[in-house]
Amino acid sequence: MQLPEFHNEALTDFSRPENRAAMEAALAKVGSQLGREYPLRIGGEAVRTRQALRSLNPSHPSQVVGVHSAAGVELARRSIAAAHEYFPSWAARPAAERVQVLVSTARILRERKHEFSAWMVYEAGKTWPEADADTAEAIDFCEFYAREALRLSGPQPLTPVPGEKNELRYLPLGAGVVIPPWNFPLAITAGMTTAALVTGNTVVLKPSSDSPTIAAQFVEALLEAGCPSQAISFVTGSGSAIGDALVEHPLTRFVAFTGSKQVGLRINELAAKPQPGQRWIKRVVAEMGGKDAIVVDSDCDLEKAVDGVLVSAFGYQGQKCSACSRAIVVNAVYDAFLERLKEKARRIRVGPSEDPGNYMGPVINDRAMNSILGYIETGRQEGRMIAGGGRASGDGYFIEPTVIADVDSRARIFQEEIFGPVLAVTRARDFDHALELANDTEYGLTGAAFTNDRARLDQARDAFFVGNLYLNRKCTGAMVGGHPFGGFNMSGTDSKAGGPDYLLLFTQAKVISEKI
Ligand code: NAP
Repeated sequence: MQLPEFHNEALTDFSRPENRAAMEAALAKVGSQLGREYPLRIGGEAVRTRQALRSLNPSHPSQVVGVHSAAGVELARRSIAAAHEYFPSWAARPAAERVQVLVSTARILRERKHEFSAWMVYEAGKTWPEADADTAEAIDFCEFYAREALRLSGPQPLTPVPGEKNELRYLPLGAGVVIPPWNFPLAITAGMTTAALVTGNTVVLKPSSDSPTIAAQFVEALLEAGCPSQAISFVTGSGSAIGDALVEHPLTRFVAFTGSKQVGLRINELAAKPQPGQRWIKRVVAEMGGKDAIVVDSDCDLEKAVDGVLVSAFGYQGQKCSACSRAIVVNAVYDAFLERLKEKARRIRVGPSEDPGNYMGPVINDRAMNSILGYIETGRQEGRMIAGGGRASGDGYFIEPTVIADVDSRARIFQEEIFGPVLAVTRARDFDHALELANDTEYGLTGAAFTNDRARLDQARDAFFVGNLYLNRKCTGAMVGGHPFGGFNMSGTDSKAGGPDYLLLFTQAKVISEKI
């Protein structure tokens, strides 16, 4: 089997009337399907429970997007047992068959691109371009991992040993749990799930309770693409109720998680403890939070730096692990930077995400809103509020783009992940000091530096300790294939989604040496 060279899916240009009309039509179509019920899918069987889990539209919280069955511990355990039972059959399929499932899934996502995006507008509060980028990334993951799986299933280069025929094969691990967050509800769900499936593992997918409907739509696409229903179980339910049962199960072979530091560390700890009857060390792939900084040098294009910080801090309401939550600005341009940033931040329009005139939509839920507002109050004590500072009008979970200046590196809003539209700005003496401050965090996910000075660009290359460093551009928007993504330290287990190493995390290597 051969596939054409990988290319990133093009983003939709919504300034074109035909694209706007197509998105309007998709929003209307998906709008007519809100409130539908979705069962659990366990080992190929649709299962309904009495307890319902409702997902809401954060722009209009009285609107129910999907009604899901909440699984309890018993069903969680049953799903792992079913995935374990089907594993040998799925693992035995030729790699090309599994690759074909991903290619077909990509085709389905592409054909219904705007519908998938519309689901994210309703359920995750994504604006049109943010939703479109999420769908494009999901397509990219399917296409990229399909090609990677073909590469790994072929002959691998080994140093010849005289008198022997040697071979290296990548085997799947077994039955695993995939636990995505709500903030890239299609892309990250698709990425982790397809990486696990295409390498021959079976999957129990437990989506975020804030975005289960998008995950359900994705599972429907996978099944339509020919994925056997026993290879992918879909188990909705609160992470605090069923997460431990899924992770601890002795038949769970691996956990692929993306989410907060707190939950990631818990999973890592629970998975490390062998259970009676367990025959392996569980593999944990955990992608966690960030406290990402953009460093602004005295010698840089200040306008570009301001724009780069704004889009990184406030795109998708600052709810990206890669979002800029700290701008660290060299003294010589600090006041000029703040002045321009304040002007532009105040002009940002916030409101329901189905309205394409709004640059920022709502934050995900009332818990998140209250936590972010709490940080804004803390920030009032820790710095000087220069833009925003409270709720924006509307019945959704809207928060103003908020900028807090003169923040010390010991401040909570400098150190803790807020995951909302709140930017701390800190003054640095010079570029060396700015890099030192940028690295003064337990996280190490993304970062950026704006400078025209070649030596300082090189200095950032060497000294800025993050998994994804961007120079003279925003720190969000990693592209599959071009920017393999993942961070250091408390940002996770150092994996790189969308890169050439990623599928190896879902395999184990076997070497066969035959005397000839
Ligand atoms: P979260 O609260 O940690 O939840 C993530 C997932 O874990 C959800 O599906 C959640 O289910 C589940 N979960 C909760 N408790 C669990 C438990 N005890 N055992 C197993 N699973 C459990 O994070 P989030 O709010 O969804 O996502 C935001 C976080 O993700 C931020 O910290 C962000 O930086 C990080 N993130 C990192 C990356 C990256 O690539 N490094 C990418 C995106 C996001 P419920 O919804 O049912 O609780």
